[in-house]
Amino acid sequence: TGFEYAPAPESRSVVTLRDAYGLFIDGQFTDPVDGGSLKTVNPATEEVLAEVAVAGPADVDRAVSAARAAFAGVWSSLSASERGKYLYRIARILQERAREFAVLETLDNGKPIKESRDVDIPLAAAHFFYYAGWADKLDWAGLGPAPRPLGVAGQVIPWNFPMLMLAWKVAPALACGNTVVLKPAETTPLTALLFAEVCQQAGLPPGVVNILTGAGETGAAVVAHPGVDKVAFTGSTEVGKSIARAVAGSRKKVTLELGGKAANIVFDDAPIDQAVEGIVNGIFFNQGHVCCAGSRLLVQESVLDDVLARLRTRVATLRVGDPLDKNTDVGAINSAEQLARISALVEAGEAEGATRWSPACELPSSGYWFAPTVFTDVSPGHRIAREEIFGPVLSVLTFRTEEEAVAKANQTPYGLSAGIWTEKGSRILWLADRLKAGVVWANTFNRFDPASPFGGYKESGYGREGGRHGLAAYLQEAGL
Ligand code: NAD
Repeated sequence: TGFEYAPAPESRSVVTLRDAYGLFIDGQFTDPVDGGSLKTVNPATEEVLAEVAVAGPADVDRAVSAARAAFAGVWSSLSASERGKYLYRIARILQERAREFAVLETLDNGKPIKESRDVDIPLAAAHFFYYAGWADKLDWAGLGPAPRPLGVAGQVIPWNFPMLMLAWKVAPALACGNTVVLKPAETTPLTALLFAEVCQQAGLPPGVVNILTGAGETGAAVVAHPGVDKVAFTGSTEVGKSIARAVAGSRKKVTLELGGKAANIVFDDAPIDQAVEGIVNGIFFNQGHVCCAGSRLLVQESVLDDVLARLRTRVATLRVGDPLDKNTDVGAINSAEQLARISALVEAGEAEGATRWSPACELPSSGYWFAPTVFTDVSPGHRIAREEIFGPVLSVLTFRTEEEAVAKANQTPYGLSAGIWTEKGSRILWLADRLKAGVVWANTFNRFDPASPFGGYKESGYGREGGRHGLAAYLQEAGL
């Protein structure tokens, strides 16, 4: 027709990478005291992107001291509306530099550029705008004393939404008047380091935000530091439990956002094509590296064949490949370790007798890749039905009645999210009341809004991020 849409791949020349990055402490980039470093790679090519400092205990000390000094001094001396202005300034700079952030996120993480461009970075900016608006509202409009901040927040985040998870943590902490020591994940440190530049650009007072790169040991040192008043962690349930043990008996407040194994429940009256879009989005968005991924599909038996047929047709259209290509739907797996974990669970699924299916698709020869995968003949006892795979792998189970759907959906140690597909409003309300999950989506999936709280039941963690509820995690008085 001459009107085909064939945009060029996004250019990586939008970002300027340094060979080596230091730690961001007290408003400056600085070398680590013990000189350690790690390399961060592009998971789509295995090319080394940069060498990044590893913070040791002495660096954690320096960062916590800087955060304490800023909390005791400049940050507490500002009025709430002045704090809010810094957050607005950061939000605007994120918007202005959105393309740079999106390309950098895609290079370091492997996610498709259309996701970092349309989801991760706009939502990160939206979080700063949202919490900027809260800063001066916390003064209760003169009705009483303003609720007080906790102090220094030690924040540890994962690699699946690096910049968005940073925004979820940093924006409410600063809005409430806390200062921050943040540790990004070892495989995706680059957007946090670019954010450090944004803090400088916004003129944020030194010490209010400190970024310490490194692996789990650095995170553990931040969590254990006696100068930290509040610990906010997003990551695996296993590490979350170790953090809960590490802070037990201390004065530290803790919030944990952990793993998930969400049920996406499709009833026979659902608009099937719409549901199939939601199923695909639920599990293949961000390669399934999503804590709230709809990784267990529960289909009412009478429509199983129809749903599976349409699902296979749709999955076969997904484009897997170069994350910088604007047409790509499924990008690279974030690391060799994650690829190994996914492969091991998929092999376990086959060994336990489930039926594995993937569309024909050619995967790039270098980098870390896994084809979209759908398992049928899955029983609730199989490991692929119980354990978080955190990859593009869907396990399909069936149910007959609403009661059975609820029982199967809740048959998991996790409880982060769930999805319901049906035309019946009363059924949505009945199920939403009974599903043990922090978020329940109806006729949609993976919808996020800064004004809406997010968090888990059971082993998916405790505390909420986002919305008014997200403020309570950073204030002495939780009565918001
Ligand atoms: P992970 O637990 O291995 O690592 C998360 C972070 O913790 C990283 O920065 C890591 O360096 C650090 N860390 C590791 N060991 C530590 C320790 N002993 N003490 C302190 N910090 C330590 O998780 P991951 O593989 O990076 O992320 C995937 C997990 O995160 C999945 O389980 C996913 O479901 C979960 N997640 C949850 C949410 C949510 O909001 N609930 C959001 C995103 C990801």
